[in-house]
Formats: sequence, C-alpha cells, structure tokens
Amino acid sequence: PEAPELSGDAVATHCPYCALQCAQTLTRTPGARLPLEVAGRDFPTNRGGLCQKGWTSAEVLRASDRLTTPLIRTADGGFREAQWDEALTLVSSRVESLQAENGRDTVAVFGGGGLTNEKAYALGKFARIVLRTPFIDYNGRFCMSSAAAASNRAFGMDRGLGFPLEDLGGADAVLILGSNMGVTMPPFVQHLAGARERGGLVVVDPRETVTARLTHGDRGIHLAPVPGTDMVVLLALTHVVLAEGLADQAYLRERTTGLDAVRRSVAQWWPERAEAVCGIPADELRRTARLLAAASPSRGGRGAYVLTGRGMEQMSQGTACVSAAINLALTLGLVGRHGSGFGPVTGQGNGQGGREHGQKSDQLPGYRMITDPAAREHVAQVWGVNPDVIPGPGVPAVKLLDSLGREGGPRALFVHGSNVVVSAPNADAVVESLKRLDLLVVSDLVPSETAMLADVILPVTQWAEEEGTMTNLEGRIIRRRKAVDAPGQARSELWILGELARRLGVLGGFPDDPRAVFDEMARASAGGVADYAGIDYDRLDAGEQIHWPCPDARHPGTPRVFLDSFATPDGRARMVAVDHHAPADDVRADAPIHLVTGRVLQHYQSGAQTRRVDELNDAQPAPFVEMHPLLADRLGLSEGQDAILTTARGVAVAAVRVTESIRPDTVFMPFHWAGAGSANRLTNDVTDPISGMPEFKVTAVAIAPALSL
Ligand code: SF4
Repeated sequence: PEAPELSGDAVATHCPYCALQCAQTLTRTPGARLPLEVAGRDFPTNRGGLCQKGWTSAEVLRASDRLTTPLIRTADGGFREAQWDEALTLVSSRVESLQAENGRDTVAVFGGGGLTNEKAYALGKFARIVLRTPFIDYNGRFCMSSAAAASNRAFGMDRGLGFPLEDLGGADAVLILGSNMGVTMPPFVQHLAGARERGGLVVVDPRETVTARLTHGDRGIHLAPVPGTDMVVLLALTHVVLAEGLADQAYLRERTTGLDAVRRSVAQWWPERAEAVCGIPADELRRTARLLAAASPSRGGRGAYVLTGRGMEQMSQGTACVSAAINLALTLGLVGRHGSGFGPVTGQGNGQGGREHGQKSDQLPGYRMITDPAAREHVAQVWGVNPDVIPGPGVPAVKLLDSLGREGGPRALFVHGSNVVVSAPNADAVVESLKRLDLLVVSDLVPSETAMLADVILPVTQWAEEEGTMTNLEGRIIRRRKAVDAPGQARSELWILGELARRLGVLGGFPDDPRAVFDEMARASAGGVADYAGIDYDRLDAGEQIHWPCPDARHPGTPRVFLDSFATPDGRARMVAVDHHAPADDVRADAPIHLVTGRVLQHYQSGAQTRRVDELNDAQPAPFVEMHPLLADRLGLSEGQDAILTTARGVAVAAVRVTESIRPDTVFMPFHWAGAGSANRLTNDVTDPISGMPEFKVTAVAIAPALSL
C-alpha cells in the first residue's frame, strides 16, 4: 500500500511526467536552491526506480522563466504583467463579445493528457455548460486515440493495460510493438525480466532501440520492419498461428466473435508474401508466431502479453493496426485471462484519466458517448442543467486546429496543458491557425512556444504545488500531493475556470477544491464505463490501490478486467477483420527515405518542461537526425553535419548522428524541439478515419547536406 503522508517534511506523490507515474518522496528543503529533494519510492510500477527526468523534476518548479503573473499582449507585440482580475475580465469580455457576434461555437478548448483528473473533468464541464461549445478536444488525440478506438470496438471498453504491470513478470513471452520503454519509461523494463529470462521478449521496431537490445543474447527476437508495415507483421503472425493450428480454439469459440472474417483477411498474408512488404524474413515471422503460441496458456505456457505503442498506432491505419494486434492476442487466447493479456502502453502522465472525464470531443465523464441520451441525462443531472444545454459532439484535434479562424470555424481558443506548436503534426500550419485567431488564451507554467503566441497567458500551478489524482497506464488511480506553494500569483486551473465561469454568468459548480471536484466527477462517472463512483480521497489516502471500474464504496476496484466477460453486449470480444494499406505519404523518387519520430530519455513530449532542466538539456541540447552509415555515405553526410530534411509539409534542419542501429532506408528524429529542428514541421496531419489520430510515425522525406543548398 502507498504511504499517504510520510513523517516531517516528506510528502508521498508521483512523478510529473509519463504514464508510469513512478512514486516519489518529496522532502522540503527550506533555504536550498530547490525547494524539494526528490527520491524514488517503492510502488508496484517503479519499485523505487526513477528515470533521469523524474530525479530532476524539482528543477522545473524554479525554472528561470517560470510564469508567476498573468500576461497580456501589448500593441507592440510584447507582453505586460497584469493582475488576475484584469486578465480574467479581459478574457471573459472578449469571449462574450465574440460569442454575441458569431455564436457559442466560436470558442474552442484544447486540453491535455497531463492535466489531473479533476482539471480534465472541470475543463470538459466548462466547455459544455459555460462556453456551451461543442469544440473541445485534447492532445491525447495525438497519442492514445487509435488504441482507445480499437479497444472500445473489440472489448467494449478501453482501460489501458487492463492488468497490473507486475503481472508481466510471470509471462513466458511479451510482444512489444512500437514502444521504446527502455528510453521513455526505463523503470518499466524490470517487468520484462521474466520474459527475457525465458527468451521470450519480442520487440518490433525499425530501430534497434534500447528496448530492442534487451532481446540480445538469446533473450528474444527483434523484428525491424519497413516503417508503416507493423500491420503486415501482425497479419502474418496471425496467419501462422491459424495455419499451423496454434490458436486457442476453445477460447475463440467461447469468448470471441468474428473469427471467420479475420481468418479470411489473414489468409493472403502467408510469411513469404509478408516478407516482400515488411522486410522481415518469413522464417523469423514463423519463429515469432511459434514462440508466442508456445507461451500461451492453451499450449501449456505460463502466458503471453501483446503491448502496443505509438510507433504502430500513430498511423492513418492506426486503429486497424491495433485491431490486428488484438486479433493476434485473441487468436492466442490471451485477453481476460490471469497471466496473459493485451494493452497499449499509455504515454502521457494522465493519458488514461485524461480521456475518461470529458475532454474528448465526443465524450462525457465516465467515458460515455456524448450522443447517448442516457449519458446526457445523467451528467446533466449531476451538473444541474437541462440535458439540452449540453452541446453535441465536436471534432477531433487535428480538424479543430485546422478550422481555427477559418470561415465558420472558432475564432477563440483556450489551451490548457498542451504545447501544440511543437507537439501537433504539420507544425507550421498549426502556427498559421493560431495566428488566425481573434483570441488565444494559454494557461501554462512556462512560456511555451504556444503560450508565446497568446493574447493572454495565465500562470498555473503544477505537480508538487497541487492536490489531485492521476490515472496511470494500468487504470490505477493515484494521488498527487502538494509539497510546496506555487511561486508568485500562479493559480490552479480549477480556480481559473471557476473565476471565468462566474464572470461568464455561471454561478457555482466550479469549486477550486480538488477533493470536491473529484467527488462530483465520481458521481458523474457513476454507471459509465470508467466508473469512479466508489473512489474518494479518503480511500486513496488510506493507501488503497484502486483500479477502475469501482462502482461503490465497498468495491475493491478492478485490477484485471474481462476475466469473466468483455464489456460488449454479448460479453464476447469482437474480432475485426482489417487489411494493410501503405502510409498516406509513402516513399517515392523525390522523397525516398522513411522518417520516423519519437522521444529521447531526457525529454518529455514537447520539451516545454524538460528543456528547462540544465542536466537534461546538457545531455540532449538539440535536435538530431539518426541515420545508418550506408545512408549517410549515399547522401554525403557525416557525423555532426547539418542535414536538411524536406517533406510535403515543410523543412527542418538537424545534426546527423550516424548509427548502425537503424534501417538504411529510414531516419529517426526526436520531436521535442521547436524552430528549425522541429520534427513536427515535417510530419503528416492526415488522420485515421476512426480515431482522428495523425500519421506522425511515418512520412517520406528527402535529405541533403545543409551546406549544399
Ligand atoms: Fe517514471 Fe516516467 Fe517519471 Fe521517468 S518520466 S520517473 S519513467 S514517471
């Protein structure tokens, strides 16, 4: 159990960054340069470990350019300091006049997967019943939407991993597609030790990443497909499982529907044909399928897990890719079974909770569809409004950003916990969108690249300065606790939303006490998919480990989902037949190289926080492009030389890093930086038709030495 409050000046909380939400102890250090000392704390996910980002997290609290007062744009293009009343009154009066002129939906809201559950909930409520706009979406659309869509259609529910991370340790095999947790969340790796010991770790990644190298020495298999062909790998693995009689027929009969269509869809993907598309030797595909099958319970194994990450999800066929991974897991009889399973590895700190409480354009709290009359009725009753007040669905993030300032599109935008100038695809177009607005209001803790385009910047509290809850990658609800006061006038978003609501004529309903917000959120979620009704701060502070759904106060929570049945009408998992298509922007004569993007150990997402930590910045100070020596030779590039990269969206410049750990037809760029080295100036904003997820992960690029231009 989690120690709620340690002795003296120590506070038990969790890391501000990724979805592993490693447990930390923060000890107050009055008079020292930093107000807190950070230590890892034993917890089931991190077992005391932290990565370099976690160890250095206190640095951001006192970043030299930390926002401490509201800022208002001046006529000469700069900013001036303002008091809260002036800033909030300016914002509310501009909103009122824009809405009077253009209608309610002229205002839009963009949220974040790093906001606490309470903030995510309050933001969705604010958009729907204060602004009364359908236009709210969030940056989780960029990372979890395809996995969520595929899980929802297969299982009737998206609960991230769906099992405690510690369960991985007992499995014979773990298949990881498109996740490099050895770099993005290093403490995760200890949970792969069991599969490695038994030679059963399988990593699918076009790069030989830190995670892929864990397979070396007979610990497992690394498959490096052509970027954009993970789907083909999965179709071929499922083909082999079915063709060689390795499937769990009893499980498929009793717990699934749709096998016949899937069988037909994979029939054409025999390993030799798959090899021609994905580049993985047919024998390796067969060996992998047999390894996974041998680990499955139906064949006497200890169990196997299939885990997906952004590398295979951020595609225009991302939902279908995840469905292919689910089909493989179901064919092997892994899901909803002790010791086996399927799950996406969530990235952002509250990527799970952020998608459950109403930030998504089509959802209400409790992870319920906004078009569902019963859900609208229930939530409206909790909010004390008529259901007709709640607008219908809005549009997904990429579409929302593109519509800003256009004919009929929103003319004002609130941004909370997101740095879209760096993190959204086709970044130059995003900047143009933001510049078309009449009003941009950004709440942030530092002057991010997005904040610097705002008309009004509102300084907010963060991590160790606030109370709240987060929901980690396992669907486990954890407490964030306050250890220090925020500097200057920085205030919680909960307070800001309440003040804006009052100025916009909605009195009450927006308390700034996180506990009160959580209790209301739990009531709003009651009966929904993500049911928090039985959870409260007292239970969490008493050390209970609670995974949703938890429908009442006596319910212990649900660490493992689907053990008895799936959350579908007939209780069975739905297999969905899918097929492969090439990336929307595939390699061709004038753009012959695949560009993939990702993260480095030292930086988190848009880098707005981690680029302000000296230790992290010193270790990774600038963007780079990683390429194989054969490709570097062919392009006339060498280590450290600047390369110019051009795609159909834009141009970027980055220093070359030569490495043999990547396919010779592929380059890799991290996406943490803005400006000339911004990877997202190059990425494609075409989206998956079901989830709205952009195709960040693969695009065609031309590369030349920068000096030759
Ligand atoms: Fe843990 Fe992630 Fe924080 Fe690193 S960034 S300490 S892996 S929660």
